[in-house]
Amino acid sequence: MSDGGRQTGRAHAESLDLADPLAGCREQFAIPARPDGSPTVYLCGNSLGLMPNTAGAAVERVLEDWASYGVGAHFKEPTPWFSYHEMFRHTGARLVGAKPGEVVMMNSLTVNLHLMMTTFYRPEGRRTKILIEDSTFPSDRYAVASQAQVHGLDPAMAVMVARPREGEHLIRIEDIEGTLEEHGAEIALVMLSGVNYYTGQWFDIERITAAARRQGCRVGFDLAHGAGNVPHALHDWDVDFAVWCSYKYLNAGPGAVGGCFVHERHARDPQLPRLAGWWGNDPRTRFERDRSIEFVPQDGAEGWQVSNPPILAMAPLEASLRIFDDVGMEAVRAKSVALTAYLEQLLDGVETDRFEILTPRNREERGSQLSICVRDDARVLFEELGRRGIVVDFREPDVVRVALVPLYNTYLDAWKFAREFGEVVGVPLVPSDAAVK
Ligand SMILES: *Cc1c(COP(=O)(O)O)cnc(C)c1O
Repeated sequence: MSDGGRQTGRAHAESLDLADPLAGCREQFAIPARPDGSPTVYLCGNSLGLMPNTAGAAVERVLEDWASYGVGAHFKEPTPWFSYHEMFRHTGARLVGAKPGEVVMMNSLTVNLHLMMTTFYRPEGRRTKILIEDSTFPSDRYAVASQAQVHGLDPAMAVMVARPREGEHLIRIEDIEGTLEEHGAEIALVMLSGVNYYTGQWFDIERITAAARRQGCRVGFDLAHGAGNVPHALHDWDVDFAVWCSYKYLNAGPGAVGGCFVHERHARDPQLPRLAGWWGNDPRTRFERDRSIEFVPQDGAEGWQVSNPPILAMAPLEASLRIFDDVGMEAVRAKSVALTAYLEQLLDGVETDRFEILTPRNREERGSQLSICVRDDARVLFEELGRRGIVVDFREPDVVRVALVPLYNTYLDAWKFAREFGEVVGVPLVPSDAAVK
């Protein structure tokens, strides 16, 4: 069915799924079921991505190696634990547009953020501030404030916040550039999200990095909502560092091992201060007991490792990154753009003040997420959606976040969301069709 050029019928959604080149990927994931056994409409991959079906076998393999070889598994081919993290040298780098050696998978996101800030946030003289964005994720706020305190600074003075203009939800890039021009000499570190978790705004990393570097600031990005969602060219964009987690769009499981990018230009600088541990040391001298031998960092991001990695927690990452590597970020992005625009046009179909999309309307400024601000009873609506088998995410006070993940979501998922959401808010968005309920 079509009205006024809008295609709102279920059949149209189904025809888009038939033409979708990534349709086959969905079978590679476990889709949670409703109590009646039918699949949920899972739109929460920006919070916890779904399990690749091969994750279990990857974890099994580690358990079997442990059972069969004990300590010998550290050196047992084909996946010796001693160099397990090196499995991601290429896949991890390709994912974010880096060179092999610029990316290491290690720790969790906030831990990596601290490790990077220990190196790259070095307040000195007049240059003491950290620039973050408004409504940044709480963990990042706590992390930057505590870094300021570690340096004996008052976070209220040291942390600068880039905000939207009065009456607006999104931060204008020209305002970030303006802040950098005006206050650049006071800013030691620009530490922004790639994609903001709340609004879904995707910042122009290349442009912000250029503006920050013109002012002599160090610049890092938190890609928690960017990695696996939008394409990156971190090497070419010239950022100093980036960090991300692997359990959102990367589908590597709860608390999965995160990622860390350090630009090549810092790769061989042993003078950079860092928190050291044996795993960051040159593997050839890692076990040295001679007390005269000092820490020798490995080249590149691997030199920031501290502990030996949790192999069991790392195993699903192999399953996950293999899918990204097979499909490629370009194809993921192409479907993301189309699928998100499809839901957007369903939501735009009616004049209403019951809800409003906060996320940028320009597709170049967003990934797979639409944040919808709901007037009145947002939490009640969220709970009712849950009862109807629609899994989305709610952020106080009134925002429902919807992520259409290209690897496993369908156009029909988007259509079903629009049907249920429209019914619950009392503003029908798609033709009612009792037969398909
Ligand atoms: C999800 C998320 C985190 C979570 O941090 P962990 O250290 O993985 O627990 C932190 N920051 C941002 C921006 C996030 O989106």
